[in-house]
Amino acid sequence: PEQKPAAQPADDMPDWSAYRGVLVYIEHRDGVAKSVSWQLLGQGKKLADKLEVDLMALVIGDNVKHLAEEAIAYGANRVFLFDAKELKSYRTRPYSRASMKVIHEIKPEIVLFGATATGRDLAGAIATHLPTGLTADTTELDVEPHPSRLLLASRPAFSEKMMATILCKQYRPQMATARAGVFEALPRDPNRQGEIVQFEFAMNESEIAAKVLDFIQDQSKINIEEAEIIVAGGRGLGGPEPFKMLKELADELGGVVGASRAAVDAGWIKHEHQVGQTGYTVRPKLYFAIGISGAVQHLVGMQNSGIIVAINRDPDAPIFKAAHYGIVGDLFQIVPAITEEVRKR
Ligand code: FAD
Repeated sequence: PEQKPAAQPADDMPDWSAYRGVLVYIEHRDGVAKSVSWQLLGQGKKLADKLEVDLMALVIGDNVKHLAEEAIAYGANRVFLFDAKELKSYRTRPYSRASMKVIHEIKPEIVLFGATATGRDLAGAIATHLPTGLTADTTELDVEPHPSRLLLASRPAFSEKMMATILCKQYRPQMATARAGVFEALPRDPNRQGEIVQFEFAMNESEIAAKVLDFIQDQSKINIEEAEIIVAGGRGLGGPEPFKMLKELADELGGVVGASRAAVDAGWIKHEHQVGQTGYTVRPKLYFAIGISGAVQHLVGMQNSGIIVAINRDPDAPIFKAAHYGIVGDLFQIVPAITEEVRKR
């Protein structure tokens, strides 16, 4: 990651001076924003400041003006808003049509989306229509300042063995999807001032050609990326059974269970619980690392957690370097004692 490409000579590239500003897509479900949207505004602000341009946001939905106001509270200077009943549920065609309208009119130089199912679908549809490049699933975003103004979009490549920085020199806007939990949102400031620009949406149902009949929530699936408390276990648990003990603690705290890849590869727990380079990147307020050694591939997925508590019987385990609180001892004694204590309070 340290070996960023050198600045590109500006005269190598077409004149993109008509394109200015950083635009972030605000993803939501039924008017409730995904936290990756605010995280991208946080990182987008850094890029916009470096390029000396506006940070802008795009909100699409039905009854979503409050999200435009929230986007301003989280750092946007200008928000483009589509508010229409046809836009209630995410559908590729109307959402990409609306996005492209803004991109054509506003001409942002950078457009960012969360690397979620929706973000990947929408960004891909837009990139093929414009046409421009799209760097998917990035974990680092930076810019070369003027004159090249290139987005340096980095992501793990070659089976996660190296980081690749991908440039889009021949087209604008430069687009990327970014993983949730990697970037930090700005503190919410409800007094921050900004402009909301309302766009008209006109597309009839026959043109949209897809209908959402119902959303059925898969209750068995956990949403580890949005969890505020994660109780994660690793190979030190020795098998699938002790994960029940972790679940008890997680339930007491209102959190979810996480896992290292060693535990997932052993088949003790599903991949949707895996934290790390090939799992989810998380940013909870509290993260328990239990029987996890702290390999670098695990650390990259959880090192931005608010408070990290490590429980390990090896006092030299690398996880203790990343932890705010460390307990050296046998997890089979310590975890039930913590659960017991939490129950009392
Ligand atoms: P170990 O390293 O074996 O650690 C187990 C720990 O448990 C030890 O520190 C031990 O002291 C402790 N312990 C044992 N018994 C007890 C007990 N009774 N009480 C207390 N402590 C105890 N790993 C990930 O986690 N996520 C990823 O996304 C990921 N992606 C990877 C991608 C690539 C390309 C590669 C090469 C590797 C990746 N890894 C990932 C694997 C990573 O390198 C480590 O192998 C893995 O994180 C180790 O898991 P662990 O800490 O659970 O196991």
